Amino acid sequence: MGKRHTPYYYPQMRPPRRESRGVVKGLTWGALFGLAAIGYSHAISTGGEARTAVPSASSTPKPGAAPQASASPGATQKAEKRLVVVIDPGHGTPAAGTKDARDPETGYKMADYKNTPETTEVYDVALLVKKMLEGSFDVHLTKKFVDEGPSLRVRAERANAFHPDIVVSIHTDHTQPNTMQWVTPQKVGQTRGITSAADGTHQLTFTDKKIACISNAYAEQIASTRTAASGIPAQLHDLNFTAKKDDGSITNTINRAPGNISWVQLLSQGDTGAPWVYNEFGGKKGSSETTELSADEKQAYATGVANGIQAALSSRDSIFGQCQ
Ligand SMILES: [Zn+2]
Repeated sequence: MGKRHTPYYYPQMRPPRRESRGVVKGLTWGALFGLAAIGYSHAISTGGEARTAVPSASSTPKPGAAPQASASPGATQKAEKRLVVVIDPGHGTPAAGTKDARDPETGYKMADYKNTPETTEVYDVALLVKKMLEGSFDVHLTKKFVDEGPSLRVRAERANAFHPDIVVSIHTDHTQPNTMQWVTPQKVGQTRGITSAADGTHQLTFTDKKIACISNAYAEQIASTRTAASGIPAQLHDLNFTAKKDDGSITNTINRAPGNISWVQLLSQGDTGAPWVYNEFGGKKGSSETTELSADEKQAYATGVANGIQAALSSRDSIFGQCQ
């Protein structure tokens, strides 16, 4: 933190979360209301395009601060902010005309795609996780409805705009049996993109040591609770993304950049980033690759993830101590 790892994505500086919480706690109500007014107008002004929802100033409180500040002074004890969880259910249908859009920063296609039955079942799992956690945390999703198909960059920006303490992606893979229970943290050195003589370097690398350290610790917690909830061992596992076509030119027909980290995780680093844990669960039933998870399987997946988030955030202070 504090270093501009990827300046062209993340030019803004932000103080450590714990410090800013302490500051808010110590403020008078007048000052808090003033801060909240900033947060409120920020929330309003960024309520449209997710692309503009990235926080614009280091001192700007997260939009979620607004409702607290509009409460009566008698509610002082509620000034202690709840930790923020963002759940990212994978896939959806890209809006008309956006399927082949290229990300303006990288030149790569970041449109998500409809995957059946994954899209609907992971949305169901995300809603179950939200339901289990929202009594204790502020919980948000990166999607507004099941068939929405925000680009991977929009997902990352939506998540990061909430200033989350943890983000968790939920996916299933119906080409694999349920022994596939992968939990994937961000790691320093993971990368997406290509370098070509014709087009130069179009590669982005994860470099944030602190977020990687926290992400790994959170992933270990989630692997443990997913194992307990399903009875099937979950393990930390790296991802691998291959380019569908790669002739060395990003101006041609590469659908997605090759590499070993999901775009959403890669785009969440630096001062606006967050520890982001990606989950996969094998959904193949016998020879069928299209049978949706059963209600019990969805519940076990959700319970494992929700318990993992709870455990991770319960250990947050000690993990932060180890991840300087
Ligand atoms: Zn998926």
